[in-house]
Amino acid sequence: MLLTVAHFDFPYQAQIALAQLESEGINAWVADEFTIGMQWLYSNALGGVRLQVEPQQLQRAREILAQDRSADVEAQEGCDPLVCPCCGSTRTHYRPVGRRLAFLVFVGLEFPLFPVRNAVHCDACGSLSRLYD
Ligand SMILES: [Zn+2]
Repeated sequence: MLLTVAHFDFPYQAQIALAQLESEGINAWVADEFTIGMQWLYSNALGGVRLQVEPQQLQRAREILAQDRSADVEAQEGCDPLVCPCCGSTRTHYRPVGRRLAFLVFVGLEFPLFPVRNAVHCDACGSLSRLYD
């Protein structure tokens, strides 16, 4: 029996975590990847894409996934953090926007007309800036 160690909105997020666990020698599997890949609106209903491990490796997997390696990636890649256009803070993160509207259109028309896009959310001032505008 496998236990779920993490849930993700999108299959690519689960694949990144899967690679992280496998690089540490932990056997892991992704569940519901193809169902949500075909119809991402099922993600909430199914509890997202599940990353599963064997019970004896659950604690170690949680420890690995809890590590924040973003500073290592920034040091290796030399990328600058996102800067908020409103207040200049670097306490920002990506957030998908448009999912609620896309869901309502899907329910009404049974076809998702509005793509979900990423935006930059500022933790300091709370502003939400769309990318590619
Ligand atoms: Zn800000």
